Amino acid sequence: MQQHHVILCATRCALDTLRDKDSIEAFMRKLAYATHSQIVHGPTVVARKGSFPGVTAVAITHSAHLVMHTFVPEREALLEVYSYISVETAEVRDAFLSHFKEDVANMKLVDFTKWRYEDIECEEPNCTRRASRDWHGRKVCQDHYDTYRDGESRARESSFEND
Ligand SMILES: [Zn+2]
Repeated sequence: MQQHHVILCATRCALDTLRDKDSIEAFMRKLAYATHSQIVHGPTVVARKGSFPGVTAVAITHSAHLVMHTFVPEREALLEVYSYISVETAEVRDAFLSHFKEDVANMKLVDFTKWRYEDIECEEPNCTRRASRDWHGRKVCQDHYDTYRDGESRARESSFEND
């Protein structure tokens, strides 16, 4: 199964865009289009009151789920797109940025799409081996994984010696 999974977080968003349920609903529809999918449920758009005022929107499409939360006092918006058909990350990002009148510099993008490791390289500098292991969230090759693990067990042994 293909996995396309992207999380975007924008800060310093224009306030009106974070509160307006109608425009957020329109945005969710636009996003479904950007993910080449049709909405089968929703968008459900709810204004949250209480400690974290903002809007939460959810849509289920025939190949994805789209979830958005806005946080008005913090002026933040968070979007999660998960799809099992191909998604153009750039298209999703552009739609998100233009809706929230956001500057790309203020945005954080986490792309989990390649977290199946087959396609990614070890994150250690100058290492081009395939990342097949996960060391506390760091994608590394087997050799670097072993190096980290050995280092940790040595650190543990020496702390026992000090007891
Ligand atoms: Zn490596």
